[in-house]
Amino acid sequence: MFHNPYVKKVYSNLQTKFAHQTEYLQAVKEFLSAIEFLIDQDKNMKKEAILERLVSPERIITFRVPWQDDQGQVNINWGYRVQHSSLLGPYKGGLRFDTSVNESILKFLAFEQTFKNVLIGLPMGGGKGGADFSPRGRSDQEIMRFCQSFMTELAKHINEKIDVPAGDIGVGQREIGYLYGQYKRVKGIELASLTGKPVLANGSLGREEATGYGLIYFLQAMLEEENEQISQKRLIISGLGNVGLNAIHKAVSLGGIVVAVSNSQGSLYDPQGINVELLENIINHHNKDLSFYSKMRPQASFSKVSIWSRSIQADIALPCATQNEISAHQAKNLIANGVRYLAEGANMPCNSEAIQIFNQTDNFIWAPGKAANAGGVAVSGLEMSQNAIRLQWSFDEVDQKLQSIMFTIFKTCQATCQEYNLGKQYAVAADVASFKKIVDLIRLHGLV
Ligand code: NDP
Repeated sequence: MFHNPYVKKVYSNLQTKFAHQTEYLQAVKEFLSAIEFLIDQDKNMKKEAILERLVSPERIITFRVPWQDDQGQVNINWGYRVQHSSLLGPYKGGLRFDTSVNESILKFLAFEQTFKNVLIGLPMGGGKGGADFSPRGRSDQEIMRFCQSFMTELAKHINEKIDVPAGDIGVGQREIGYLYGQYKRVKGIELASLTGKPVLANGSLGREEATGYGLIYFLQAMLEEENEQISQKRLIISGLGNVGLNAIHKAVSLGGIVVAVSNSQGSLYDPQGINVELLENIINHHNKDLSFYSKMRPQASFSKVSIWSRSIQADIALPCATQNEISAHQAKNLIANGVRYLAEGANMPCNSEAIQIFNQTDNFIWAPGKAANAGGVAVSGLEMSQNAIRLQWSFDEVDQKLQSIMFTIFKTCQATCQEYNLGKQYAVAADVASFKKIVDLIRLHGLV
């Protein structure tokens, strides 16, 4: 798998120590594969233990979260904060509330976040956190009690100078509102202790839209390079949450035709293009039941089969749901159905075998989450700036800055491809560009 003895050793030590942390090992393996050639060229890296320092989080905080449900039953969940790297600033990265949450998933997310934040160019380190609690099916009161208990403990470890969480799966503005309210009760007013706050509570305009819009801005830049545009392209988009929905809106506004969408219950295909108004109506008023759509539009078909396994002709795929949602078999299916471009809205949505297939396919171009979904945390950075100067910028101002950041990230990937003869391997380029900057930072700081 690796040829460099130092890289081999670092990875095999991790395998021995964290054999059961499959997502974490997967993220590290992908990264090390991309940057291995740089290790070959710099013998000092081993002596300086650069890789060991990079792959290990600085700190992992684990805590018990007791809370009471509406029936009076006391429940216990586990909360985490993985503080991966503070080289570039306060740890920054979202909180995920989902039953699947464990240390492996949060370590992989925090690892990816560190390099993503480096690419953005704002002073933010990398972190991630969450709990194995899902707000799905819970009442508002239960969610509030959970958030209060979670934050009572987390507040001991964060503040605007040290660690600034935001949202992720299962943590939207409602949860951030409750979390911020509790933070304020415990530690006092501190505007930038969390980002992704409701606009009314000193959040940034445009933060809600930022990841989905940013994904489309990155895609636009990638397509322009091929003398192509989004208009009239057929898109498949998984995930109907914060990222997926906003990506749908922006893609449609640019003339794209979103032909298929999905959530955790199944997938929906409308050959004439998804009617976004009807879709949102179903999300808001029909319990997200996508089968309802096909009853209203007979040409559409709902299926419990994964969106990536269905035979749907399209040009562009945007996985925006969760990690490892696309397997090798599904990657082949996408290519067989005409898909030529893919940009990751979710973090690590394609498994290692799927990535291999994409990389081996001529004329298939894909963008890694590290670069393409950086818009959310970028605007979180802008929210911190606005909180610090006690101003709120207009939506257009924020959106302009977001566009410029996404364009710059694309240019960084492109310049790195040119410098290292990487062709259109934007994923390798994103890893290489961020790794080089991190190594410089480590050397600048000394023994950190
Ligand atoms: P949300 O919770 O808002 O939405 C997630 C969506 O994905 C929901 O529609 C959910 O279905 C669906 N989903 C979850 N698991 C599965 C599954 N196994 N199969 C099919 N669909 C699934 O999360 P976000 O939109 O915030 O996050 C999505 C991804 O984007 C994650 O990987 C996250 O880490 C990444 N990301 C998010 C950022 C942000 O700013 N929010 C920033 C950068 C990356 P249902 O509606 O049925 O629950």
